[in-house]
Amino acid sequence: MNIGVSTLLYENEDIITAVSSIAEAGQKRIELFCEIAGFRPGEVSDETVDTLADLALEHGITYSIHPPCIGLNPASSDSSERARVVEAYIGTIELATRLGIRDMVVHCGSKSDPRVPTEIALGFASQTLQTVGDVAQQAGVVMMLENTCWKETSILESPQDLIDLADLCPPSTCLLLDVGHAMIWGVNPTECARAWFPRLAQIHAHDNHGECDEHLPLGDGIIDWKELISFLAMERWDGVFMIEVGQQEDSADALERSLDIVRECLAQCANA
Ligand SMILES: [Zn+2]
Repeated sequence: MNIGVSTLLYENEDIITAVSSIAEAGQKRIELFCEIAGFRPGEVSDETVDTLADLALEHGITYSIHPPCIGLNPASSDSSERARVVEAYIGTIELATRLGIRDMVVHCGSKSDPRVPTEIALGFASQTLQTVGDVAQQAGVVMMLENTCWKETSILESPQDLIDLADLCPPSTCLLLDVGHAMIWGVNPTECARAWFPRLAQIHAHDNHGECDEHLPLGDGIIDWKELISFLAMERWDGVFMIEVGQQEDSADALERSLDIVRECLAQCANA
């Protein structure tokens, strides 16, 4: 498997500082998060695009892209919010095209209210994702559909539901397991990985205590990384294990500690 790091690790910095810091730590697969300063779709300068392209060339980096997500729920009951999601996602595809990026994260969304019937919310999500999917397909950008729902507003009742939603998107659509989100959803992340395996392109790795989306360094919460990584190693998974930890007091140290956990788990598998 390949290791990657999301620029969420430097979410309070600007995009160039975030990428430079991760590249200096020796990482070559970097997720560009569109909530980072200087990287909002529609507002990104040619100078920023050129600098990101230069950094990629200099350090041998492959980028993937994560659209803006705050206040943007693809399964929202509010049609104007869904229109804003489509606009933000299409803006992200345009940005991906400027940077030659092939892979884009998309969220499955959640119910606006627990009382919304599941099939109605799923219908909203598939409508949003089909519209975006058509544009992505034309641009040659692959969508990676991420589990982003939990508790009483979840639109997914089982891991199979994410596969069914992906089946309504362009055929190239892959699946993305967010381990922290699965934990809050109450479904064992390894079970998700097993269910989604042939189409599992990427993992978002961050820790929590099973209640909130804390985006902690690996090992700082209650997630069983050994179980998941053993499964991935056994299956010789060749997707991207993207560390998606939020900014910490010492982000460089948080990254190193997270990578140590991955290395330890892999070493244990190799020795088993
Ligand atoms: Zn995620």
